[in-house]
Amino acid sequence: MEHTQVLQALGFQPHELEGGSLNVVSPIDGQRVAQVKETTVPQVSDAIALSKTAFKEWRTVPAPRRGELIRLLGEELRAAKSELGALVTLEAGKITSEGLGEVQEMIDICDFAVGLSRQLYGLSIASERPGHKMTETWHPVGPVGVISAFNFPVAVWSWNAALAIVCGNPVIWKPSEKTPLTALACQKIFDRALARFGDAPDGLSQVIIGGADIGEALVASKDVPILSATGSTRMGSIVGPKVAARWGRPILELGGNNAMIVAPSADLEMAVRAIVFSAVGTAGQRCTSLRRLIVHKSLKTELVAKLAKAYASLPIGDPRKEGTLIGPLVDQAALEAMQQSLENATAEGGKVHGGAPVHDNVPNGAYVAPALVEMPDQTATVKHETFAPILYVMEYDTLDEAIEMQNDVPQGLSSCIFTLNLREAETFLSASGSDCGIANVNIGPSGAEIGGAFGGEKETGGGRESGSDAWKGYMRRQTSTVNYSAELPLAQGVKFDI
Ligand code: NAD
Repeated sequence: MEHTQVLQALGFQPHELEGGSLNVVSPIDGQRVAQVKETTVPQVSDAIALSKTAFKEWRTVPAPRRGELIRLLGEELRAAKSELGALVTLEAGKITSEGLGEVQEMIDICDFAVGLSRQLYGLSIASERPGHKMTETWHPVGPVGVISAFNFPVAVWSWNAALAIVCGNPVIWKPSEKTPLTALACQKIFDRALARFGDAPDGLSQVIIGGADIGEALVASKDVPILSATGSTRMGSIVGPKVAARWGRPILELGGNNAMIVAPSADLEMAVRAIVFSAVGTAGQRCTSLRRLIVHKSLKTELVAKLAKAYASLPIGDPRKEGTLIGPLVDQAALEAMQQSLENATAEGGKVHGGAPVHDNVPNGAYVAPALVEMPDQTATVKHETFAPILYVMEYDTLDEAIEMQNDVPQGLSSCIFTLNLREAETFLSASGSDCGIANVNIGPSGAEIGGAFGGEKETGGGRESGSDAWKGYMRRQTSTVNYSAELPLAQGVKFDI
């Protein structure tokens, strides 16, 4: 589909795409597709005030009824899947199946949240005092700010919004300034679900458009008790302390530097497929992309040869075209950052295969060949996350050494081992194994399902979103003791008779 057709299919009107100060450029061909109006700082304050009012009403709506709104959102997303997927491709440059996959992830989290809306379970706790009952209950918290990155322009919002809304909280979303149209399209889809739902308060989910200054206005507000921020470690290092300083609750989902250990017993054919998907899929622009390959020294030459062969035949080009596996980088700056990292790695003793810009048979975007870089050591460049398809290859001798190398980076998002040896697999998953939020066996580091809690340790920020009990991050816990006896005993046997 042409750009204008994609935008029309999602119901955009000309006035929404013209006259603003924010240029939206498609990574596919460098074409400017819209000039979107930016939210001003005073308008952010208005949005927060509306959200506060919405909260007072929404928190009293029974959770299963709140779940009904998310069920309707899931239905609307199913109906709009192909158009919204095409817009993800247009705005973020993902290949068609990955654009659709991202919308599927939104649908999945809606299904999850609908079930969750009947399972916001608390606890009943045995009291040490006779005639006393202790319980733990979960309550809504208030407006949730969501700041998202360009590379998952819609899924990250849905992970947060679906949970926040069933938990009784309104949401204010500031998408990446590189992908405002997908956010505006989601708002239209949400509005359709709201219209069918009927009686939700105004401002339950709002979108604000702009760059870091608009994000900062959300970050600074005491009236936004939860701030979920997804993006670079640099951004998190600014946002996290600011939210903490005003006693807000940050949920940080930041950069990764994900590794795979390939052990001597690994099924190499399977490993090669997993490596190629996780290292070059989304043109290496996933937080969970594979960036470091730690290979047993007995396998390195064979594995590098197999990978170099696989890399040579990867179709690079227009992400809308059937068969394309590698689309463009988001912009020219990302291409330049990649070239700089390859230069740095070379200066540190690395041997680079591939990695050059691609100009033939591709539209006018930032297209690159993915790079494999054999490194003598885990150098400073390897420890830094470059958001591009660069895979550093290093060798190891013992499993302890491999795990040490895997953990010896500032980030702690995703990790994996390929082995058919049970001792190795379980050691990798044990307390002395991977230090990441995600650790897999015989599967690559990227492409998580929504059922598990998603997030990572160290400079990845420590936040958890999506499945498992991540919903607790959007609620406040209340411990209650009820005395139904005629006595007033104190805990721990303390006597205080008056
Ligand atoms: P980025 O940090 O440049 O921007 C992310 C968002 O933060 C944008 O909306 C931006 O406007 C906003 N922002 C930037 N500075 C801000 C500030 N001072 N105050 C408030 N908001 C601010 O990241 P990007 O280039 O869009 O995305 C790529 C990065 O995101 C990579 O590092 C990647 O690993 C990370 N990421 C992490 C996850 C995860 O779940 N861990 C998921 C996706 C992307």
